[in-house]
Amino acid sequence: MKSEIIAVGTELLLGNIVNSNAQYLSQKLADLGIDVYYHVVVGDNFRRAVETVRNALERSDLVITTGGLGPTDDDLTKEAVAEALGLELVAHEPSIKRIEDFFRRIDRPMPESNRKQGYIPAGSMVLENDNGTAPGIAVEKNGKLVILLPGPPKELVPMFHEKVLPYLSKRTESMIQSRMLRIVGIGESMVQEMLRELFESQTNPTIAPYAKEGEVHLRITAKTRSEAEGKQLIDEMSEKVQAILKENIYGYDDETLEACVIKQLLQQKLTISVAESCTGGMIASRLTEVPGASGSFMNGAITYSNASKVKLLNVKEETLVRFGAVSEETAAEMAEGIRQLSGTDIGLSVTGIAGPDGGSEEKPVGLCFIGIATGSGVRTFKHIFMGNRNKIRYNASTRALDIVRRTILQ
Ligand code: ATP
Repeated sequence: MKSEIIAVGTELLLGNIVNSNAQYLSQKLADLGIDVYYHVVVGDNFRRAVETVRNALERSDLVITTGGLGPTDDDLTKEAVAEALGLELVAHEPSIKRIEDFFRRIDRPMPESNRKQGYIPAGSMVLENDNGTAPGIAVEKNGKLVILLPGPPKELVPMFHEKVLPYLSKRTESMIQSRMLRIVGIGESMVQEMLRELFESQTNPTIAPYAKEGEVHLRITAKTRSEAEGKQLIDEMSEKVQAILKENIYGYDDETLEACVIKQLLQQKLTISVAESCTGGMIASRLTEVPGASGSFMNGAITYSNASKVKLLNVKEETLVRFGAVSEETAAEMAEGIRQLSGTDIGLSVTGIAGPDGGSEEKPVGLCFIGIATGSGVRTFKHIFMGNRNKIRYNASTRALDIVRRTILQ
């Protein structure tokens, strides 16, 4: 099945927004084994939209549009698709009722223009929208399938997942399944080196590494006829990879490093507090992004100045004078200081030089010390991170979280 994605919206052409819907849909179609041959973007112009849909229908079996299903006059995707397919727009009463109900639920009067969203090309199927007013639509004619999806990702993604995916997977003979293994603490080339034999012998499933900020993701993909067969192939490959990479794998699929750390802390009933200098609250922010973090995360202090390190964390002035703020000794006192202050099981600290200024030969930009204090003492780790200020700060926060993870594992 050859497919094509048409994103409708002048905002996209002006560069005001990024076409993330096309990226998302391409990834999902690839998972289904459906080839995507074209990405097209067209503005909110009826004539050009009709022309774009006509072109697509000539060369693709499946056309997916995103955007332009809204209530206003410049939302014209449905009209353009109906025109290109030679179909009338007809009222779909259940959709009109759903839109009316939606406004009743949010306790607002329904603008008359929203009624237009309940009109669909004759003979098409409605994909209900649980997160907005515009229904999605699937319409088939002359062996071509056109699927119309709303523009906002928070509407498009669940609709694709819940309605389109089951619909399309019925039509494809083979199914593609994948699992992402999330790796931290070793780089992409090390992963390749360690998995060399598996890379050289892979057929089905395949494995592919992706370098991410501070992490490596490894996608295992199986192409099979059934879900069970795919799962088994993936499980087997996953076990082989795990036997080699061991604790460098922290999670699977969408699990983030911070979510993994919070999960471990909660499982072990441990509490944590964080004292941050160069990361400026990034670690606390990442941890508190995880729902349920309050069961473990107790306190975060951004002690950027020397004075605050002394006043809030009881770092000794002498330590700062003798070794400097960016030193093993300061990191250790910060970690122990925040642990004492907060009464937590773990105290974590980061102090470093994020740049671009402030580096010296002895202490270059990127130098960071991470401290971790627990009931059995304090340990410190020295790292030199490469890249710009943001990269250094983010990678330092990743490394700090990974140190917590590995400490708990031990
Ligand atoms: P609505 O029902 O909200 O009017 P719509 O289907 O008419 O939705 P648009 O009006 O075209 O969609 O776009 C609404 C918003 O959705 C845009 O402002 C943008 O934030 C987001 N959006 C639209 N198209 C894309 C795209 N291709 N990629 C990412 N986001 C998009």
